[in-house]
Amino acid sequence: MKKLIYMLTTLFLLGACTNGKQAESQQMADDGIDSTFEYKVDQFADIEILRYPVPGFNSLSLGQKEMIYYLSQAALEGRDILWDQHNRYNLTIRRVCEGVYENYMGDKSSEEWKQFETYLKQIWMANGIHHHYAEDKIMPQFSQDFFVKLVKSVDPGRMPFRDGMAADETLEEILPVIFDPTVMPKRMNQTPGTDIVKTSAVNFYEGVTQQEVEDFYNAMKDPADNTPVSYGLNSKVTKVDGKVTEQVWKLGGMYDKAIERIVGWLEKAAAVAENDHQKQTIQTLITYYKTGDLKTFDDYSVQWVTDTTSHVDFINGFIENYTDPMGMKASWESMVNFKSIEASKRTTIISENAQWFEDNSPVDDRFKKEEVKGVSAKVITAAILGGDCYPATPIGINLPNADWIRRDHGSKSVTIDNITLAYAKASEGNGFKEEFMWSDSELERSTKYGTLTDNLHTDLHECLGHGSGKLLPGVSTDVLQAYGSPLEETRADLFALYYLADPKLVELGLLPDSEAYKAEYYTYIMNGAMTQLTRVQPGKNIEQAHMRNRALISRWVIEQGTADSVVVMTVRDNKTYVVVNDYDKLRNLFGQLLAEVQRIKSEGDFEAGKKLVETYGVKVDPQLHAEVLTRYEALNIAPYKGFVNPVYKLVTDEGGKVTDVTISYDENYVNQQLRYSRQYSVLPLKN
Ligand code: ZN
Repeated sequence: MKKLIYMLTTLFLLGACTNGKQAESQQMADDGIDSTFEYKVDQFADIEILRYPVPGFNSLSLGQKEMIYYLSQAALEGRDILWDQHNRYNLTIRRVCEGVYENYMGDKSSEEWKQFETYLKQIWMANGIHHHYAEDKIMPQFSQDFFVKLVKSVDPGRMPFRDGMAADETLEEILPVIFDPTVMPKRMNQTPGTDIVKTSAVNFYEGVTQQEVEDFYNAMKDPADNTPVSYGLNSKVTKVDGKVTEQVWKLGGMYDKAIERIVGWLEKAAAVAENDHQKQTIQTLITYYKTGDLKTFDDYSVQWVTDTTSHVDFINGFIENYTDPMGMKASWESMVNFKSIEASKRTTIISENAQWFEDNSPVDDRFKKEEVKGVSAKVITAAILGGDCYPATPIGINLPNADWIRRDHGSKSVTIDNITLAYAKASEGNGFKEEFMWSDSELERSTKYGTLTDNLHTDLHECLGHGSGKLLPGVSTDVLQAYGSPLEETRADLFALYYLADPKLVELGLLPDSEAYKAEYYTYIMNGAMTQLTRVQPGKNIEQAHMRNRALISRWVIEQGTADSVVVMTVRDNKTYVVVNDYDKLRNLFGQLLAEVQRIKSEGDFEAGKKLVETYGVKVDPQLHAEVLTRYEALNIAPYKGFVNPVYKLVTDEGGKVTDVTISYDENYVNQQLRYSRQYSVLPLKN
């Protein structure tokens, strides 16, 4: 696995102004996005829902707008695939809850009704009944009796009970899944020593053991194959007549009805593609959806990654494997975007110097790429988020994931500026930094350099970090199993952290002075060692790959740096703080850890990788955790953010010819989710 999703340090930034940002402001003014734009949409449980602007959309050509429209429809059609992938009862539960929500005629002012409404908002956010980040089942704060009463009070004709199934049968099936904390408690279980296939609630496997899955795929692999397909990427593993088998996600296979719709929109998009290369890319994706052939998926990925000139770009398909305990099965996701020209100057400089960064990194020469291939990097404006990019979304993406394609054809890396902007705008003045930063100098640095260094960290992580280094011959990435994702993120983050402090960045004009990087160093460690714990419930471990990675790095450097007082945890007035005393030496520590993590990856050293993650990335100090939660609670900030999408509409003349595409931002979270469920929901309840 190798790619990335990243999204966290941005929770802390304010607004330093760079030239790129000023250009963007002008662009936003041209698009009618002014100071009255409302970034905050909704808040419930541990979630805040934001809205993102799409500066530049109105200036696109008609053809580009039209293509974004069709691709955005394709992006929304895959929503239910993701729901079903997350758990095989998700679609039934969502549709029953929505049926109640839209048709219940009784009292809607009671506390229990409000809790029911919150639950529905939570599962919308998670695309299922398990928390999108923590992996735990979301426990309703209303009673089972109340829920049964609601379901039975609604006209059955308005409820989505499966053919021939009455309310009682449906309830019998879903009640334990919703209310019993011991039934399917975790979407993805990573606990060492357990059968991570059997104990995970994801719908990637059914009726098979971890051993059976391992045997099944090991039998397919050829160690001599230099360009292997991504085995198991697009299928569910089950047993038929006692024999382990795959149900492939394709036209005519599993998820047929949704894929048919996706293909329909892709065909329209291909017809208005910007150039032949892009048209061919979309057509290859269509062929892949029709056949499910993983070789065709690789063909598509190569075409996609080598298209570096199209202004409009997109991701659509079974891409990231974070939610599979075995690290093979990909969740469905989509994002449609276009290039942000001004801001992309930054990433262009970075990618033009990619070989210099590779050559000068602190890792062993045996693990370095002799020739860094085509790291294409750009800053983009997201136009629509779908599947696993919605409502929670990454702020940077690096694809494709197949190692051999990255080796032979390079990778495409993006930083998503308008999402970062929305995070920053929404966090202005919330008191977070004042509460957790050690002194005025950290605060001032963060205010002055925070936005810039945070974006730069994302750029470096995406366009250099993930693309750097190589595996020794014969080593495959999946030997690291569930530790592969957090270690890969660790590697990319360390590469970025190490180079943020390099004089080369000032020389290249990416940073204004040799002081700026300290803003990101401090924020990074404060987050990894302390404040990200606001996203973990009391008594739980850290589960999510990026959170594990940030904890791993931060705690490791604090452990190594405490003896010399390079970086320490200190208590003042009963409050814990991170204090950095020597930024130069801190950089050396990042370099040392980078060298070791690269070695682990290059050699496929499972035991060392496991030890690093389990020692530094998983466990939580309960006392520190309680303190951080208390301090955070007083600020009344939701630790997780999701987004609503803008709404696009085709404008046609009397002859049906498209004359424009409009964008609007006035849809709220509830209406958007309900509309998506009406408009883009064609899968059967269970798949
Ligand atoms: Zn990453």
